[in-house]
Amino acid sequence: MAEPTLDALLQEDRTFAPPPAFAANALVHDRSLHDDADADWQAFWARQARELITWERPFTKVLEWDLPFAKWFEDGQLNVSVNCLDRHVEAGRGSRVAFHFEGEPGDTRTITYAELLDEVQRFAAALKQLGVRRGDRVAIYLPMIPEAAVAMLACTRVGAAHSVVFGGFSSDSLRDRIIDASAKVVITADAGWRRGAASLLKPNVDAAVAECPTISHVVVVNRCNTAPVMQAGRDVWYHDLLAQHPKGTTCAPEAMNAEDLLFVLYTSGTTGKPKGIMHTTGGYLTQVAFTHRYVFDLHPATDVFWCSADIGWVTGHSYVVYGPLANGATSVMYEGTPDTPAHDRWWAMIEKYRVSIFYTAPTAIRACMKWGIQEPAKHDLSSLRLLGSVGEPINPEAWMWYQEHIGGGRCPIVDTWWQTETGAIMITPLPGLTTTKPGSATFPLPGIGAEVVDESGTALSVGGGYLTLTHPWPAMLRGIWGDPERYQATYWSTFPDRYFAGDGAKLDEDGYLWLLGRVDDVMLVSGHNISTTEVESALVDHPSVAEAAVVGAKDATTGQAVIAFVTLKAGMGAAAPSDDHGQALRAHVAKKIGAIARPKTIIFTDDLPKTRSGKIMRRLLRDVAEGRSLGDTTTLADPNVVAEIKRRAEVSPQED
Ligand code: ATP
Ligand code: MG
Repeated sequence: MAEPTLDALLQEDRTFAPPPAFAANALVHDRSLHDDADADWQAFWARQARELITWERPFTKVLEWDLPFAKWFEDGQLNVSVNCLDRHVEAGRGSRVAFHFEGEPGDTRTITYAELLDEVQRFAAALKQLGVRRGDRVAIYLPMIPEAAVAMLACTRVGAAHSVVFGGFSSDSLRDRIIDASAKVVITADAGWRRGAASLLKPNVDAAVAECPTISHVVVVNRCNTAPVMQAGRDVWYHDLLAQHPKGTTCAPEAMNAEDLLFVLYTSGTTGKPKGIMHTTGGYLTQVAFTHRYVFDLHPATDVFWCSADIGWVTGHSYVVYGPLANGATSVMYEGTPDTPAHDRWWAMIEKYRVSIFYTAPTAIRACMKWGIQEPAKHDLSSLRLLGSVGEPINPEAWMWYQEHIGGGRCPIVDTWWQTETGAIMITPLPGLTTTKPGSATFPLPGIGAEVVDESGTALSVGGGYLTLTHPWPAMLRGIWGDPERYQATYWSTFPDRYFAGDGAKLDEDGYLWLLGRVDDVMLVSGHNISTTEVESALVDHPSVAEAAVVGAKDATTGQAVIAFVTLKAGMGAAAPSDDHGQALRAHVAKKIGAIARPKTIIFTDDLPKTRSGKIMRRLLRDVAEGRSLGDTTTLADPNVVAEIKRRAEVSPQED
């Protein structure tokens, strides 16, 4: 990993100073935040925990660190639902909107903090009636509907940990996760709306639960009126439970220890079999509240925040549910896909709800680029003042498009690096404070220690290497459910005394961090390190390319060869891509980066294999490129895509 060459991009030297008006508007974005954290990061986090969180019993201990096991605020007690709901209602903010919900068919529901608290208490009382107790696990398999947030918060109220399983996963994935966590109850819906149709969930639950002896009850939300089969004694309607616990029902919150398990969430499986990541109560809530407030420059009384992630992904946990609610913010929640009924759905919703902060993923931004600028141009997006990105390195071209066509050239972009394991944002610009560069996540947050190291674990001040975290942070994972050895081996063994994130990164001359994707995604071609991200960005820079995924495949002469999977934009030869087109793209990469990075093979494909959270699964493409049988495909959004790619890979010509 000597020298990944992002130089081509860096040479262009595009920087964006924070808009002065924005800085004037900012809450606390002065250097004191950094100075505090630099002086004593533990005291800094203790201060955040005291300022942002309401403790049932205040903590006296800040951190106990016995590598790799951290305990934050250990003797403190709190309840997450109280922090997200009761305290706002008690402070007189009960009529503030917590969620503007919009279903895919266009149905809407406006839920205030007082209403959300009421429904959470009623459902928490119902969970208790079903036998759910403090310390239990509850599986949640729901579409993006308000009941998903209610279910999560009701679990926290009674002290049960939730395990949210993305609603698009198969019954096998659901079964494996239920068994792994020995969940007692599953909360689901008959179906959810997706691309104009009811996508059934209940039959998947039936198939899964048939093999899960720990499940005593299945709670079913009637979302789409599909009249599912209900098994007597086991299945119960959500609305019947609420009817048994009418409005005004109270359910006393459990005082949880700061280190009690809050949830288990499985990673998306881009690098291997999913891991059950464990998060606990006090530290997690502190860091999600902190990051949601400062990274998004949140003004809770006036902002309308929209994180487009599904709750099945950590981003949905931290920035649809816990961060915004802990801060008393107003959020938009949307059930469906951005292209239903038309490609301007998101922009129509931003206009309708006057969204001021929008947080989404590069994969979605690239899809919107593919659909064209006429879509956002149909709408008044002037309410937006800040944009965020998460999930993958954002290609500089996508960054510029986002800034110009969505942000109207006036909104800062926060490119936020973090993981399921980190629980909350770790590396990001701070709006109003950080001068940004398109494609760079810039700097670690105050209170976070991040360094790029070389193979021997020595910290670098410039150049490419491995991203590591140098000390514990409040929202860090506490382990992998049921597998402490894998926890130690995966994250804490590569470099002594450091958390290894699995990602490659580069520091430029100004100290900016550039994420290069997973370390497995760096290719070694004729002795040169080339990052897949960089070649992908060069391909996406070509006017005909909508999306690209690049992998290294074993090669007898060069060690590894660059193999590119390319999706063309509609009307750009996508129907019948030619060999000449492939040559033009190779030449484009050579011009942007250098001949060394020129793909040996270009495979045109209509789609790329992605996880449900939209990430490209390069490990599967590597399997295809090297002619192996495919690894774990259970978390793929559409398993047919790889089969088609395999077929095309066999017929694609190679460069001599
Ligand atoms: P698995 O660990 O099972 O392979 P995953 O890593 O895709 O799954 P997540 O925890 O959701 O699951 O994703 C975290 C990863 O996403 C990071 O390690 C990084 O590779 C990538 N990532 C997230 N945000 C950014 C960002 N802003 N810039 C670059 N990469 C990012
Ligand atoms: Mg990961």
